Amino acid sequence: MKKRPVDFFNDVNNLLTETAGKLDLEKKYPGKQIVERIIQPDKIIQFRISLQMDNGNIETLKGFRVQNNDSRGPYKGGIRFHHEVDIYEVRALAAQMTLKTSVIGLPLGGGKGGVLVPERLKLSNTEKERLSRKFVDSVINDIGNKKDIPAPDMNTDSQTMAWMADQVSKYTGENIPACFTGKPINMGGIPGRTEATGFGAMMVLEKHSQKAGIELKGKAMAVQGFGNVGSHGAMRAAEISGIKVTHVSNAYGAVFNEAGIEIRNLIDFLKSEGQENIKQFPGSEVYDEDILCAPVDIIFPAAVENSVDGENAGEVKAEIVLEGANGPVTAEADRILDSRGITVLPDILVNAGGVTVSYFEMVQDESQDRWPKDRVFRRLQGMMNEAYDKISLVKEKHGCSFREAAYMHAVEDVAGAIHGRGVQ
Ligand code: NAD
Repeated sequence: MKKRPVDFFNDVNNLLTETAGKLDLEKKYPGKQIVERIIQPDKIIQFRISLQMDNGNIETLKGFRVQNNDSRGPYKGGIRFHHEVDIYEVRALAAQMTLKTSVIGLPLGGGKGGVLVPERLKLSNTEKERLSRKFVDSVINDIGNKKDIPAPDMNTDSQTMAWMADQVSKYTGENIPACFTGKPINMGGIPGRTEATGFGAMMVLEKHSQKAGIELKGKAMAVQGFGNVGSHGAMRAAEISGIKVTHVSNAYGAVFNEAGIEIRNLIDFLKSEGQENIKQFPGSEVYDEDILCAPVDIIFPAAVENSVDGENAGEVKAEIVLEGANGPVTAEADRILDSRGITVLPDILVNAGGVTVSYFEMVQDESQDRWPKDRVFRRLQGMMNEAYDKISLVKEKHGCSFREAAYMHAVEDVAGAIHGRGVQ
């Protein structure tokens, strides 16, 4: 049965509760309900957006912004426009952001937003602009560079952030670039933000393979989802790590080439011919099976939640699952993969490169500075390596999985900040 967003929500909450138990938080902070204060968000903003379409009709859409926890710093997290957005999904993703900013060591909290855009609505550029501005209208009193700083996520990009930042300036009468990240460079964006999540993921894989004595060169990889995270991850995998990306999928199908797909050619092809024509990509064959069970060494799920579940986890052939997307492996699948000796490098570590470079963008904008790309990638690499080492130490100490270790580190850190702030 297809997993629902509420399953992802339950998986995250169960893991939070189990982690609090392992850390003995109740003993450390008696009666303080620390884990409940991560599971229950600080604030949920839910609103209706009446979106005028180009033909004059109005569509009624549901929008959300969830502010999970700001004990360690202002809320931070993306906004997605997608047909599967619902309150459970946004809550789970916001809680994960609180943990992710801790894993990577940023002075930020966690939040997330989204609009449920039905699949039948293929938004034009002008419709997308109106939707972006309306989203800001609904949350204007709750966002800002010192409060809550959104960023792009699924089906939103630098252009979306540009419209949103412009809409904020219409209210404040000021130009506050640090109120959104992932903006175009000429509006205070930072070089390397677009590549950051995919590149950061590969940096974690490179570091892991060094430590585990795995030779990445020549290994085969399947990439599920070829948007921002998947395409940039695939590019770095092929060009820097020496990995053969043999399988690639998007929402419209999958292709494979045993000798390795030419990633830049595929990116150019999809740009010119449209994402929906992936199966026509020359130099590859159509792949109709489950790409996550392909005969490869590494799978890189970089699309949606719940992609590896109880049904296909037993069929995964890879040795490593590198979670580019948020929540691509269910808790049930995690247990199956673990019992089969497959290493899962978890989302809150692996895809933290995006929020890290978003943070660099905030620092750059607040200091009215300009960061060159090499500085961005150097610092990103340093922070991804440090986070990997930190989580590896926890893993070794407790003899647990990488995901459990990442949760243990983050929950302990966030709990300390919640407690430190007191209850008044
Ligand atoms: P995107 O919209 O740029 O790309 C999503 C891709 O997934 C598209 O190619 C789409 O066609 C494909 N897709 C959707 N459903 C699919 C399916 N069922 N099977 C195969 N492919 C499918 O989104 P993105 O920004 O790359 O985000 C992807 C994931 O990574 C999300 O879970 C997101 O939350 C997470 N993430 C993104 C960032 C970021 O910086 N963009 C940062 C951290 C985490």
